[in-house]
Amino acid sequence: MSGPGRDGAATHVVSNQPPPLEDTDLLATDLALRDGLEREGAGWALERVGRYAARMGSAEVLAWGRDANRHTPELAAFDRFGHRIDEVAFHPAWHALMGLAMEHAVHALPWREPRPGAHVARTAMHSILSQVEAGHGCPITMTFACVPALRAEKTVAEEWEPRVLATRYDPSSRPAAEKSAATIGMAMTEKQGGSDVRANSTRAHALGGDDYELVGHKWFCSAPMSDAFLTLAKLREEAPPTCFLVPRWRPDGSRNLFHIQRLKDKLGNRSNASSELEYRGTWARRVGPEDRGVRTIIDMVHHTRLDCVSGSTGLMRMALAQAVHHARHRSAFGRLLAEQPLMRNVLADLALEVEAATALMLRLARAYDHAEEDPAERAFARIATAVGKYWVCKRAPQTIGEAMECLGGNGYVEEAILARLYREAPVNAIWEGSGNVICLDVLRAIVREPDALPALRAEIALARGADRRLDAAIARLDADLSDPSDAESRARRTVEQLALALQASLLVRHAPAAVADAFCAGRLGDGGLLFGTLPEGVDTDAILARALPL
Ligand SMILES: Cc1cc2nc3c(=O)[nH]c(=O)nc-3n(C[C@H](O)[C@H](O)[C@H](O)COP(=O)(O)OP(=O)(O)OC[C@H]3O[C@@H](n4cnc5c(N)ncnc54)[C@H](O)[C@@H]3O)c2cc1C
Repeated sequence: MSGPGRDGAATHVVSNQPPPLEDTDLLATDLALRDGLEREGAGWALERVGRYAARMGSAEVLAWGRDANRHTPELAAFDRFGHRIDEVAFHPAWHALMGLAMEHAVHALPWREPRPGAHVARTAMHSILSQVEAGHGCPITMTFACVPALRAEKTVAEEWEPRVLATRYDPSSRPAAEKSAATIGMAMTEKQGGSDVRANSTRAHALGGDDYELVGHKWFCSAPMSDAFLTLAKLREEAPPTCFLVPRWRPDGSRNLFHIQRLKDKLGNRSNASSELEYRGTWARRVGPEDRGVRTIIDMVHHTRLDCVSGSTGLMRMALAQAVHHARHRSAFGRLLAEQPLMRNVLADLALEVEAATALMLRLARAYDHAEEDPAERAFARIATAVGKYWVCKRAPQTIGEAMECLGGNGYVEEAILARLYREAPVNAIWEGSGNVICLDVLRAIVREPDALPALRAEIALARGADRRLDAAIARLDADLSDPSDAESRARRTVEQLALALQASLLVRHAPAAVADAFCAGRLGDGGLLFGTLPEGVDTDAILARALPL
């Protein structure tokens, strides 16, 4: 037989492509996270976090993440007979991810087992969750964060807290009392105002006792298949909002009037459903005092902001691991990328960003662990959460974009996780207080809560004298903070300086010398604006060996 046979038809051999990064233990390979867990008081939880991390890094769970984002949720406003049901159908992978997170109490650990380190351990688990599939982090976070707000109303907390703390995920659409566990959402944003919730137009009408009926709309309500929602509505046109709990089912066992108008078509966060809602005489229970709704729900927001920090840290961590892994297996111009000086500079710079975010996230979580009994920790958490939320969330899109480029064209293709991480990244900066709003919140904390800024400065000052670039940054910060002129317009600059000084202080005290020195050199010294501009003399060998141990 002439012409090409089977072998002759082969066009090429696949070479110079990395193996997939899967079946890795996401804690064992993350030294900054592991060290930080011990340092910040969660050494007792290492094995537990490790179990979740190993499972989350498995090929099977990574595939769930892909599937949950490829097969996105669908609205079923009506059943086939035309009855209104307002349900959303998810791919089984979504439910598997939710079940795994709840089984490991990522939604509830510090409330189920209040002890020092519980917030630290949970925050670490939330960042691990975000590495693999961030969309389901939304209902997990809201369910975790609702507890302090629910506690503003004793009877509501008595009824709902046991459901929220339960760990056997139950996706069925039934009255919460019949389910093995409940999840909670939050509906504040309206068309005419998101950041400015005082602009809410939804009205509440008293039915007697603590029962109310709501009429109005919400422009964003994520995870609408949750079992109940904390929401805001006004009792009188001119009144400030009051906080309410809206369950999907009424106490008589009938469906509450919770009309999902449509689902948002979003840039990222696609596995998660985000909806537009109408309340049309919707039954609700008041939570906290009348007209004090912002005060009540802010306790929830304070906790969701912590998860914005850990969520963005997780996204960046996965992007970094993928980039380092790729560069260690891919050659160009005769040498592995990971051996080429310019690529090493880029990767090391990315690693510094992730280590700084990790240290900040875990220190913040420790403040939550001690906030109740220690006023200084409470004051630190108040301001440092806003500072961290602004900075870490803002750094994520740039960090992930750069990590994506390390993979070249492969990074831009959906099969690699980088594309999904990149599309996910901006949302943490937008929700729970967009960038400017957060910076203004830092100013508000400085003015209204006299202990907040001193607590943050005291933490930064713990590293005073250890690095001259940090000392110089503290001096610049002192000058900035003592100048009251035009504070609002300068707020981003102020918060940026606070964040960098805090991260540097944490790394100088706790990270290996190579990491701390390079961070101070790159972020407070002679570094450039983009990644890969670390100045000469930085120990990239040590930084990269730590970033992803071989
Ligand atoms: C995927 C997704 C899911 C969401 N899920 C929910 C949810 O479940 N529940 C919910 O309630 N909301 C949800 N939101 C809404 C989100 O919280 C709001 O979009 C956000 O709070 C901003 O509100 P806004 O869109 O009305 O923008 P605006 O408040 O109009 O703000 C627009 C811009 O102006 C800036 N700005 C505002 N005030 C000032 C000022 N005084 N000075 C300078 N700049 C200012 C803001 O920082 C922002 O950059 C979700 C949003 C997204 C994208």
